[in-house]
Amino acid sequence: MLNLDLEKRKQELLRYYQRTGYANSPTVIKAFLKVPREKFLPRELVDKAYVDSPLPIGSGQTISAPHMAFIMCEALEPALRLGAKVLEIGAGSGYHAAICAEIVAPTEKLNSGEKLGHVYSVERIHSVAEFGKKNLEAAGYSDRVTIIEGDGTLGLEEYAPYNAINVTAAGPKIPPPLIEQLDMNGGRLIIPVGAIYGFQQLILVIKNEKNIKKQSLGGVAFVPLRGEYGW
Ligand code: SAH
Repeated sequence: MLNLDLEKRKQELLRYYQRTGYANSPTVIKAFLKVPREKFLPRELVDKAYVDSPLPIGSGQTISAPHMAFIMCEALEPALRLGAKVLEIGAGSGYHAAICAEIVAPTEKLNSGEKLGHVYSVERIHSVAEFGKKNLEAAGYSDRVTIIEGDGTLGLEEYAPYNAINVTAAGPKIPPPLIEQLDMNGGRLIIPVGAIYGFQQLILVIKNEKNIKKQSLGGVAFVPLRGEYGW
């Protein structure tokens, strides 16, 4: 597969997302164009990198369809911004974490002296965490994304509070530690909540000193969130 072909398909997929209304934010579009999704896939699936579909990454897990990165990142803006601290639950391939890293710590600003952000991503399956680490290293994101093995429903107390938290697996409810570890000045959390293999809603939580607002962004289908506050 020529890289030129992949580049053309990436541009076509972006145009499709712009027509269908998934891609609106210039910042997320820039990150999507920068991050090579082909480097986050098992070798035999590389030519499908810019097909709008989730793909298997081993251990029964999937890399989300690229439009999901747009939906989640756009919903997390403005908390997901240059310099922000991000927590992801479900590192998987590392692709979504790399997109977030490209927003909070863009490649072109790496040596600018500006204060850049960081993505901490928790993954419970050892082999998947290793796959994600390897991909992030190969794509040049291992200095901006740290993968930690563990149960992400407990959050990651060590680096809290987080400006933005995104959960890429669906749970029966919002894990309370994630709300606690969210920044109280407009921190944003996005998580699919609902049935284990059925209808789930993407819920956006916005935390402020005085209140916590929740809204549904529509129906989705994610793999199960396991662990103490998961299934
Ligand atoms: N963001 C990923 C998609 C990952 S799929 C990507 O861009 O490729 C969801 C992942 O969540 C799976 O790898 C699964 O193992 C993980 N997961 C499920 N429950 C978890 C938990 N409690 N803590 C951490 N990871 C979990």
